[in-house]
Amino acid sequence: MEAIHSEILESGVHVLTFDRPGSAANVFDSASLTELNEKLDAVEQGASGVIFISAKPAIFIAGADLRALETLGGEALQDFIELGQQVFSRIAALRVPTVAAIHGACVGGGYELCLACRWRIATADRATKIGLPETQLGILPAWGGSTRLTRLIGAPGALDIILGGKTLPAKAALRRGMIDDIAPRESLRQAALEWISRGGRESRRKRSPALDRVIATVAGPIARRRMEAKSRGHYPALPKALDVIVHAPDASVEESLHRERTAVLELAATPESRNLIRVFQLQERSRKLRVPGIEHPASISNVAIVGAGVMGSSIAQWLSARGLRVLMRDIDTTRVAAGMGRIAKLYADAVKRRIMDKKEARDGMDRISPAAAETPLNSIDLVIEAAVEKMELKKRIFIRLEQTAPQPALLATNTSALSITDLGAAVSRPDRVVGIHFFNPVHRMPLVEVVTGENTSTETAVAAVRFVQKIGKLPVLVRDSPGFLVNRILLPYLVEAGDMFAQGAAITEIDGAMLDFGMPMGPMRLIDEVGLDVAEDVADTLAGSFPGHMHTPAIIGRMLTAGLLGKKSGRGFYIHNKGNATPNPDAAKYRDGGAAAKLDRTTLQRRMVLLILNEAARCIEEKVVAEPADVDFGMIMGTGFPPFRGGPLRYVDALGTTAVVDALATHAELAGAHFAPCHLLREMSQSNRRFHAAD
Ligand code: NAD
Repeated sequence: MEAIHSEILESGVHVLTFDRPGSAANVFDSASLTELNEKLDAVEQGASGVIFISAKPAIFIAGADLRALETLGGEALQDFIELGQQVFSRIAALRVPTVAAIHGACVGGGYELCLACRWRIATADRATKIGLPETQLGILPAWGGSTRLTRLIGAPGALDIILGGKTLPAKAALRRGMIDDIAPRESLRQAALEWISRGGRESRRKRSPALDRVIATVAGPIARRRMEAKSRGHYPALPKALDVIVHAPDASVEESLHRERTAVLELAATPESRNLIRVFQLQERSRKLRVPGIEHPASISNVAIVGAGVMGSSIAQWLSARGLRVLMRDIDTTRVAAGMGRIAKLYADAVKRRIMDKKEARDGMDRISPAAAETPLNSIDLVIEAAVEKMELKKRIFIRLEQTAPQPALLATNTSALSITDLGAAVSRPDRVVGIHFFNPVHRMPLVEVVTGENTSTETAVAAVRFVQKIGKLPVLVRDSPGFLVNRILLPYLVEAGDMFAQGAAITEIDGAMLDFGMPMGPMRLIDEVGLDVAEDVADTLAGSFPGHMHTPAIIGRMLTAGLLGKKSGRGFYIHNKGNATPNPDAAKYRDGGAAAKLDRTTLQRRMVLLILNEAARCIEEKVVAEPADVDFGMIMGTGFPPFRGGPLRYVDALGTTAVVDALATHAELAGAHFAPCHLLREMSQSNRRFHAAD
């Protein structure tokens, strides 16, 4: 079956429409590249112009088929890369005008096809996203993208897009010169025809090659310094992409394509690339996650949120921005007003960052109804409780919700660590109770844990998962267990950081050790962001459940008494001032020893990482989630665990289970019994098992 339809207009213009059979997406695999190559035979024999367009509702071309990258190795991969380069070079060499008419996702190989065209026009729809995200997969654009984007917009722009792995909405892409025009969806094809009949040369010819060369020589070292500071050498695709880009203005297209090829073949064989591709696939898996049972759960449009604090207001903003109606309630007008203020700021920031325009922000605000007292919940489909983290209070709220919310409505809680089963026991219909646990900050964190209590019904779980998917977040299904998945694994790590600080280790060394490991933020800074009060609540809950290996560091209590709550009070382990954080020298006053003062970064890092790995394995041992992939996915999406390492359990596989068990056992003797390797790890080490099949 054809994936590309060819239509020849009276004018001699060939319209090539991508429409992969049986799929919502167009992708490039060997078959579709070969098909495109064959279509070009007819084009070369007398077309007066070519338009490339897609028939899919939300995708132009989503890039190369990742399965090909994953499964092809050696010569087969080399052939695949060469085929793509040849086909796109053939398009670039056409003497007739060529236009890419873009609607929907136009990323990676999809945009590289467009770069081989003379012009690119796109719709301004939300679905249209244009860019080159390859470095996020540990590779680089190698079908001419690194070369042609640099020639089109210059080295600084190409470095920003390619090293950042960015995809942009059409308007932003137009501003940067990545496309030439914007057209309404209904007349996209017509607009493409007009560009063809207008004739003329391509826009990049306006650039001065000599100036481009000079600019590249200046931009290269600046970008390299920035990249090294940010990636700490963990992402080999970045220096390779940088090299291709800075040399592109100097080299012939042929030489530059050769550089792309050599680089991509080396990168595709690295563990970093394999891990990053897997992370991408885990995201897709989450987007498509289906809980078996109910095919078409009731759809959720009206949501009530109880609690207008940090989380309640942020969740309200996210939902209202996605078209849902939200009733947001708190206990008095001051708190409701503070919540509305936070929402207004989130909207203003989104407008500033051009994520939406002013009208969209206003419409979003209008969809929120604030309430400072109990109001009727007549048409509500879902309630999300985000009041303070106290079980007794939450139980009281749920009892009242059961009396006031309509029967079919889902009753969800955003609790960080309290038991969904216990909360469900407070009401007569625990089957409606579920955890929908967002992470802070809501607008940046993609993960949402859907937590099922012992009595949560399948209907409720299915509806909650679909709701999370509908609002553009990534669900992971978690069994009710203290701290669920992410906080459970994070806590021993944060506690270790707190304890080592209390024992004299420097804040900068502790945080630096984990930044070196690849975490986006150090643990001391994270405690400040979360709030020492919230961290203490979660630690208390978990310490109560796992007294053998978890506790609440005493220093947190002492700092709280002194009013050091973290970012929310301006002071914690750091002093927070207008977005800047500097270590707080006063925090040292609350220490209770100096034994850790001499530990070097490697030791600090090893201690903290080992505890993450041990707890991650325990979550499999206790079936908190169904599979090791869920643990890896949850930790990468929920905490920023370095994606290039593939997640904690993939990292255990890479280190070797026996090496991890030995290191834990040694630390258990030297640094405390909480390092004792869990049962599953010991058993796996003895039987030489891995969490994931070897690549
Ligand atoms: P917060 O203190 O900022 O907000 C809680 C709000 O609930 C306050 O405005 C309070 O007035 C209100 N409230 C108290 N009783 C109420 C009642 N009976 N009816 C209506 N409102 C009431 O707390 P937060 O950080 O937003 O946390 C809320 C929940 O989300 C907690 O369960 C917390 O564990 C969880 N959570 C927090 C984070 C985080 O990083 N802060 C992350 C994920 C989950």
